[in-house]
This record gives sequence, structure tokens and C-alpha cells, in this order.
Amino acid sequence: MSGLRTVNLEVSVPRNLRWTGPTPLPPEGLAATSRQMMSHRSDAFRQIVRRVVDGLCPLFGAEQSPLLFTSSGTGGMEAAIVNTLEPGARALAINGGVFGERFGSIARAYGIDVVEHKVPWGRAPDADDLQRLLRRHHPIDAVLLTHNETSTGVLARLGDLAKCVREHSDALVLVDGISSVGATPIEMDASGIDVVVTASQKALMASPGLAILSVSARAFDRARRVHTPRFYFDFLRMRDAIAEGTTTYTPAVGAVYSLEAALTHLHAEGLDRVYERHATLARMCREGAAGSGLSCLADAANASPTVTALILPEGASATDVRRRLELEHGVLVSQGRGALKERAIRVGHMGYVAASDMEGCLEALRLVVGR
Ligand SMILES: *Cc1c(COP(=O)(O)O)cnc(C)c1O
Repeated sequence: MSGLRTVNLEVSVPRNLRWTGPTPLPPEGLAATSRQMMSHRSDAFRQIVRRVVDGLCPLFGAEQSPLLFTSSGTGGMEAAIVNTLEPGARALAINGGVFGERFGSIARAYGIDVVEHKVPWGRAPDADDLQRLLRRHHPIDAVLLTHNETSTGVLARLGDLAKCVREHSDALVLVDGISSVGATPIEMDASGIDVVVTASQKALMASPGLAILSVSARAFDRARRVHTPRFYFDFLRMRDAIAEGTTTYTPAVGAVYSLEAALTHLHAEGLDRVYERHATLARMCREGAAGSGLSCLADAANASPTVTALILPEGASATDVRRRLELEHGVLVSQGRGALKERAIRVGHMGYVAASDMEGCLEALRLVVGR
């Protein structure tokens, strides 16, 4: 079958990695991954952890040091649930796509009473709806939000939603920021958000392997009272370790190196510039794709700075388009999810990506699907 031929093993050929993650590493990050290992109890490693933690705080808009768990982002979502909710507690899960649905499913797996609010794919959750749901299902112990829904390319108005929850309930605000932290501002402290989860391999442009969680004082208080069985993912134990410049158990040391390099890179560029670059690349993607007859799943007002889901012209197959982009142009994109698997492609523009990368991607798209 042609399946074998479509797998390009020539990693030395420069390729335009425009999928939604793991994202390309900057040169310093690549170099960092080849460094020799060190003990996570050594002074040298403690210095790295302290630099990483300090470098991360402004990305969350948070004073407190984030926690570093070795797992993928989904593990971080699970950590957010098991530290703050007990079986029988009630959570309101906002589901606007695959990742919003996953957050609710994790809670349900732990016996949480999940009230799911489905938002049509491509739309952003609405604060008025949230207010109504909080009243109707009172009392709610936590609201589960996805900041950037990677399956649809929608960025939620996180500040508005968090403020709404805080004004109208005592619920904790738990946020999946896996594809937003590092690409767009988050004002965790100012917005009254309790947990933001992210991961190393998306906008943070580091190797996969780290789930990073910023946790409010209120959520730590809740963790002290909540007795849902947990061990590895315990917030309080990890907070103590991070305060000592280390992690509870052996971390993905190489991922920590690459994250340190990536944070140095991001801060050298300047966070305002980084955020502006992502907004510009997203606009380029939407406008360029529209010129080739593709439409964006999200409205411009709700469009994600990190991923754009593009609906293909009638009759086109996303599998074919994805394969041709790779084989003919060396451009690697993701396909749609769920019902959009064959109808949409998703272009990632987060992390180590420049306008020239987007131009190459858009030119390839024009040649493959343009009319
Ligand atoms: C990628 C992603 C996840 C899942 O992260 P893993 O590291 O694959 O577990 C969850 N939520 C969002 C919004 C994502 O983009």
C-alpha cells in the first residue's frame, strides 16, 4: 500500500512542522536536549528548576511558582481534578471540542458529578450562558474551562469567563491552557483563576514530557481538604519539592533542559512581542487560507492565536490534502477531529514559528487546494 511511502523518514530534510504539537524546538532547545544528564537532587539542577519556575510565572500572570509534573498535558488535567474534587462533587464542564470533552471525562472517571455544557464547534463559550448554568446547577464546586480549544481553533475569553464564575459562585476555576500558555496573555491572579494546566510541547516549544500547573492559594487549600486518592500527582508534595528547587521524583530531565532554553528564548524576544507574533501569524493564516477558498471554523473574533481549523472546499479529502502537503511540499499539518476529520485540516502556528514558515505553508495550501 501507499501507506509506507507516505512516511517520510528523511528527518534531515527541512520540513515545515505546522501540526498542533509537539512543536519544533528553537536551536537552543535542540542543543539543550543533547546535554548530559544530571541528578535532579544536584545543585546545578536546582538552579535550572529555579530559572524555569521564575521564567514561567509571567506566562501565567501568577505570583506563585508553578508545579512541574513529568507527564503529558492530560496528566496535568487529571492532577487538577484529583487535587480539587471529591467523588460526588459537582463540576460544570464547558465542552466546545475534543479537549473540553476530555476534561469532563477525566472528572467523570473520578466519580465527579459532571454537568456538561456543549458549545457548538467553532463557537466560543458565553459568559451569560455560564451565569445561567451556575444558577441552575447550584452549588457547583468547580468549572472546567478550555482556554484554547485545539480541535476547533477557538480561543475563549478566559478573563470574562473566570470573572463570571467568581462573581456568581464559589466554584474553583480550572483551566486547560495547554495550547495557549506562552502564546497569549493569561492573567491568572487578576482573573481569579485557580488552576492553569499547560504542557511543554505546545507554545512553550520544549520537548514533550512536562505538565506544568500554576495553582492558586484557594486551590491549595482545597487540596488539603480533598481526599480523592492520589499519590504521584499530589499538589502539596510537589509544591514542597519545587520550593526546594527540585521535583518529587525523577523528572524528564531533558525536557527541563529544553524548557529552560525555550524560556530564555521567549524572554529574549519579549513576551509582548511573542504574543503579537502569534496574533499576526494567526491572522496571516486565516487571510491566506481564505484566498485559497478555505474557510475558518472559528469566527475572527474567537480565532485562536495558536491553531487554525480550516474547512476544505466541498469534495476535498483532508487525508489527501494532508498527504500532498507533506509529500509535495514538506509541510506537515494536522487533520480535523471527530466529524471534521475528513473535512478540515488544522494548522499549528505556535512556539518557534515565523512569518516565513506561514508563507511557505500558505503557498503549499494554495498549490494543493487553491482554485
Ligand atoms: C494537546 C492538548 C491536550 C493534551 O495534551 P497531551 O500532552 O497530549 O496530553 C489537552 N488540551 C489541549 C487544549 C491541547 O491542545
